[in-house]
Amino acid sequence: MGTIDGAALMARSLRQQGVEYMFGIVGFPVFSIATAAQKEGITFIGMRNEQSASYAAQAASYLTGRPQACLVVSGPGVIHAFAGLANAQQNCWPMILVGGASPTYQNGMGAFQEERQVALAEPYCKYAHAVEHVERIPYYVEQAMRSSLYGRPGPVYLDMPDDIIRGTADEERIVSASPVGDPPRSQAHPEDVEAALTALESAERPLIVVGKGMAWSRAEDEVRKFIERTQLPFLASPMGKGMLPDDDPLSVGAARSHALKEADLVFLMGARLNWIMHFGLPPRFAEGVRVIQLDISPEEIGTNVPAEVALVGDGKAVASQLNAALDQRQWFYPADTEWRTALQHKAADNQTSVQSMIDDDSTPMNYYRAYRDIVDWLPDDAIIVGEGANTMDIGRTQMPNRGPRQRLDAGSYGTMGIGLGFMVAAATVHPDRPIVGVQGDSAFGFSGMELETICRYKLPLKLIVLNNGGIGGGIDELPDDRPLPPSMLTPGAHYERVMEAFGGKGFFVTDPGELRAVLDEAMAHDGPALINVLIHPRAGRKPQQFTWLTT
Ligand code: ADP
Ligand code: MG
Repeated sequence: MGTIDGAALMARSLRQQGVEYMFGIVGFPVFSIATAAQKEGITFIGMRNEQSASYAAQAASYLTGRPQACLVVSGPGVIHAFAGLANAQQNCWPMILVGGASPTYQNGMGAFQEERQVALAEPYCKYAHAVEHVERIPYYVEQAMRSSLYGRPGPVYLDMPDDIIRGTADEERIVSASPVGDPPRSQAHPEDVEAALTALESAERPLIVVGKGMAWSRAEDEVRKFIERTQLPFLASPMGKGMLPDDDPLSVGAARSHALKEADLVFLMGARLNWIMHFGLPPRFAEGVRVIQLDISPEEIGTNVPAEVALVGDGKAVASQLNAALDQRQWFYPADTEWRTALQHKAADNQTSVQSMIDDDSTPMNYYRAYRDIVDWLPDDAIIVGEGANTMDIGRTQMPNRGPRQRLDAGSYGTMGIGLGFMVAAATVHPDRPIVGVQGDSAFGFSGMELETICRYKLPLKLIVLNNGGIGGGIDELPDDRPLPPSMLTPGAHYERVMEAFGGKGFFVTDPGELRAVLDEAMAHDGPALINVLIHPRAGRKPQQFTWLTT
């Protein structure tokens, strides 16, 4: 038997553990890992900033159900990628970051890009380790893969010093490792399953909240069966959207604030009572609201509000337990309750309150008017990436999701800059599906140079920039006075020309009457397109009942 070098063994180990995609930027000392990965049949996507590469890797992980890889250079490369690790950790998404490192024999000497990478990665990771022997690479990759995927998913980090990448090992001395299978699907205690159903039966104003934990668990069939069988009103979290179609008659998404505030019992399915859910506390929730919590992570149970019933286990497995237990019961939530009627009225009121903005054809456009045409045009099977402040929040209410894992956004960490990396991942993993991004102009700017990546790989995605010339809002024109308002960006900036610079198609739309035709032309174009839509610098959301933390 021959020898193998560290780069080739890393690539082979990742492939054996089921990694299909690697997003990254090459340079010292990781060039050879990228080419070895390609030889192993891993798709390597070379990006322009490590942040975007690590965002792409986690989105690909979420979309495929297996941790995918990100490859970055030592020191600053690893530090840039930490933005992605933190985002993945907050979203409970897996990914494997492989960072190059300065050679071990120069440790402490002030080597080129020397950094304490493992120590710095640790707070953002479930597992972080430096590889110190070439022959043990498969062992560490197996540990990393298993840690990332099993239990509550999360990011992991492997540190690859230059001398390990270039070092060799005899094939017969390599420590072998078994491929990590799909995560075990743990079940909840049967008594707790019964207790959950009994609690739901006893509620007057029950509400189900479906979160992205269920989407990660691929529990869409079980969740649909549960909701259809119990006829319970449900609300989806931003990325739980699409587990059931948003236009399902049992969805109370259009009456979100009212549903959360008035429910007497909330059943959290793979969703957390963090800031997105207003912590489960008054005034956004009723005082003393009862909580049933389904989560894979026992430590999560009781966060901010004590749980009356805890269903600790995998979402798909526990939802099927609930469905099986329902076979022994006659109960379902009746059609004609005051609660249901109140929710329907509230949803209708909310629709009325935005209708005038939807119908408003003045120039420059408001967000709702822009979304009117976008929604009309949007294909049902599109994967939607939303990013920005108003752009994302209004988009979430206006753009329907009809299938699971068809929405990616700033997520639990509220990260700006994720959009283009997420779109690159979606287009790479699902080349057969339409990929549509809607970003604010500020959000676009964080990772705008990834348009070059998108054009280089000919990813035919369609990006709409809702351009209000600022962060939150802009002003009509660039003033001569200084200082400039911190929130302003260049009014009327031609972001579509950035797309054109790399060979994609760009459109600039000011008149709402032209928007639909432009969207159609962009979709018909066989390649990437950016549609830059001018929005009124002071356009906003509909008046909110609560002005803080409104999502
Ligand atoms: P959302 O933003 O949609 O509310 P969160 O990220 O806040 O979602 O919460 C998702 C929850 O799902 C986390 O607490 C996580 O532990 C949980 N989770 C992750 N994987 C699974 C799984 N396979 N089964 C059940 N719950 C899961
Ligand atoms: Mg803006």
